[in-house]
Parts: sequence; structure tokens; C-alpha cells
Amino acid sequence: MLLRHTKKEVYERSALTVNPAKTCQPIGAMYAALGIHGCLPHSHGSQGCCSYHRSTLTRHYKEPVMAGTSSFTEGASVFGGQANLLQAIDNIFTIYNPDVIAVHTTCLSETIGDDMNQIIGKAKDEGKVPAGKHVIYANTPSYIGSHVTGFSNMVLGMVRGFSAKSGEKTNKLNIIPGWVEPADMREIKRLVKMMGIDSIMFPDTSGVLDAPQTGHYEFYPKGGCTIPELIASGDSKYTVALGQFCSEDGAKFLENKCGVKYKTLDLPIGIAATDRFISTLSELAGVPVPAAIAEERGQLVDMITDMQQYLYNKKVALWGDPDQLISLCEFLVSLDMKPTCVVSGTPGRTFEHRMDSILASVPGAKYKNGANADMFLMHQWIKNDKVDLLLGNTYGKYIARDEDIPFVRMGFPILDRVGHSYFPTVGYKGAMRILEMILGVLMDYQDKTSSEETFELVM
Ligand code: SF4
Repeated sequence: MLLRHTKKEVYERSALTVNPAKTCQPIGAMYAALGIHGCLPHSHGSQGCCSYHRSTLTRHYKEPVMAGTSSFTEGASVFGGQANLLQAIDNIFTIYNPDVIAVHTTCLSETIGDDMNQIIGKAKDEGKVPAGKHVIYANTPSYIGSHVTGFSNMVLGMVRGFSAKSGEKTNKLNIIPGWVEPADMREIKRLVKMMGIDSIMFPDTSGVLDAPQTGHYEFYPKGGCTIPELIASGDSKYTVALGQFCSEDGAKFLENKCGVKYKTLDLPIGIAATDRFISTLSELAGVPVPAAIAEERGQLVDMITDMQQYLYNKKVALWGDPDQLISLCEFLVSLDMKPTCVVSGTPGRTFEHRMDSILASVPGAKYKNGANADMFLMHQWIKNDKVDLLLGNTYGKYIARDEDIPFVRMGFPILDRVGHSYFPTVGYKGAMRILEMILGVLMDYQDKTSSEETFELVM
């Protein structure tokens, strides 16, 4: 839908959201569950919810996303979904033979009040969960929070369902990567490995949602965190939770359950956040930062220095998920760019505190988060104070076209481009990729709009 009817006058709205900057909780839970090896996500609700969640993930990752559904009909809606879920667990283990079923609820089953713990307990008592197989769950009512909350709830479900304390501590670090792309998870593992650190990453969708084309369809691709790893996370030395919104609740639960201390960091997007990530790893594991990582950092600094004149003072509008936006805004400010409009559909006071401090040096910067923060408001803000760059998911393409503004796609969902699942945006290499994408669209725009006298061959 083109948005040319959007008026620039901003009126106070409290009961209407137009094009929300978020999607529903179960999508995040389903994505997180796919980061367990041999896991089949299961949607406890109606078929429509499950189809929507699967298709959104499939459109973003360009991979088939499998999931079961409790297929609620009128009867389940009135009397509760226990019978449906018991039958589903039985059918799924018999027919699809996963190692784990990760159940998430939906608006309907939460409104009815289905008790996941009780139903899954009953399934076990009735012998519907074969030996060595597992069922975990997350409560994901979509009328609160967002897909980010759903991801966080499923991470917590993994800890609740698996992490155990054997009594023998290991030297491993748990890494909870937050909602990032499979390529980002690979990149985080690469950096951790370069530092010689033994780690357990959960969830881990690399090798699942970026699996190669081999000519053979694998229902359960070879990637993902394994069950023995998830269990062993309770014996690790420390947990590094990346992104407060997606990862901290799981890390906190693990500390309470197994006594594994945790540290929450921003997603390592941009130079400062990656610096903090690398130095925290070095501190916690007691290892030095290898020269190869310092070299990558130096390349990034070189690229920023070379291209500074194209970045300076450029105004940027961003939308998406809070963990990404916090790190991205910090990165943009460090590049002397000006994030002047920021919108996130996910609620949370931490976001407000962080934005207040990161945007303090940007005159006139505005941000809004929560259920009423929407793309309509973002468009109105842009109409009142035009920006030089848009940074966000695919839903910004209408604004980009209507207002003729260069646009870099980042975040979830990206429905109309490829590459995001294969090329990381975390770490120093990732920051170079973000820069490359930003500079590419800014320079294309300059080439397109410059007069003949100012059209430059060398930039
Ligand atoms: S918002 Fe609720 S009802 Fe709608 S698709 Fe999501 S879980 Fe289902």
C-alpha cells in the first residue's frame, strides 16, 4: 500500500495503530525454537496463526519452516485445547520423530487459560513422550509484547526445560546471541573461537535457516544447539547475554536455576558495542585479544576514516527491534550521523533510558516505542523533517518510494531482498558490511541527483 495519503500533521492517537512496527510473539518463539537441533516448533492455537508465523519466517529466511499446530476449532476454543495438544504430541513423535517439540501458545490458548505445564506433564504421564524425547514450552500471548518478547520467552523455556547442574563446573561460556541472523550467530562463534574460548550458543539457527542446497531435503538440518549442550549450559562458567530484550530473561533464569552468573551486553553491532563484547569475552575467559581481531577492527576504523565525508551529519530514520536499534543508533552517532527518528513496536523502559542517553547529542531526535509506535508516525515525522537515509525492515519501502529516500534493509522481516541470512552485521566485519550498504545507497543517490557539473567519477 502506498502511503501518499499520510498527512504531516501529527495528532495524538491512543486507540489506533497504523502499520505497527512489530509482529506477534509466537514468530519469535518459533524462530528461537528452530535454533535447537532436531526441534519441531508447535503452535498451540488455530491453524491460521501457525500458517502466518511459518510463512513470515519462510519469506524472511527463504527456507521452508516446519511447525505443528494444535488446530483449534470451535470445540477447543470453548472447552480448552488440552485434548488437541495431547493428540498433537502423540502424532508428532510418531510421524515426524523430532528430538524436541517446542510448544508456544497463541492469543486464543492464552485467553482460554490452557496450562502448558499441566498438559505437557499429562502427556508424559500418559506415555506420549517417548524416552529420550522432550517437550518444552513458552507462553506467548500476542496481545502483550512483540515477536521480540516471544523469542525471549522461548529462550527462557529452553533453560527451564533443559539446563541442569551436574555439580562439575566447566570452563565454557554460554552465549545467548539474541534475535540475530544465522550469519550473525556464525560470526559470533567465529570470533569466540578465534579467542580460543569454548562456548555453548543457544539458540543457534546457523546451519538450520542458512543450510546449503544439497539436492536432499533434510527435515531437521544439521545445525542448531544440541540437547547435551543445552543441558550442559547449567555447568558453564558464565553466560554472556547479547541484547537485554531477547536474552537477559533466559540468562537470569539460568543463574537462578543453576547458579551460572551472567553479563548482559548490547548486540555487538558497530565498533563500540563490538569492543565491549570482545573485551568482556577476554575478561571472562582470561584470554588476550588475538592480533587477527585487532586487525579486523583496524580495517573498520580505516574504512570509517576514508568515508567520513559521506556520512557526516546525515539524518537517519530507523525502526525495528530494540536490541538492534540501541546498538545501531550508538554506531551511527559514533560515525557522526544523526539518528533523528527511531520507532520500535516493542515496549520497555530500558529502551527509553538508552535512547535518552544515546540520542542526547542529536538535536531534535525523536523516538517512540511500544504498541502505539507505528510506521505511520515514522512517516509523519519524516514528512516534517526529511532524513537522508532509512534503516529498517522491508515495511519501510513504501516510505522510501514515496519520499525518495535511500533505504538500507536491516532487521526483521526482510521480505524483498536476499543476503541478510548469509552476511553478518555483527562484529567488526559486520560493521564494515553495514557501512558498505549505507555508503552504497548514499553514493547511488548522490550520483542520481547530482548536476552534470558535480557528477564525480571518483568518490
Ligand atoms: S496476533 Fe495472536 S491471533 Fe494473531 S496470529 Fe498472532 S498469535 Fe495468532
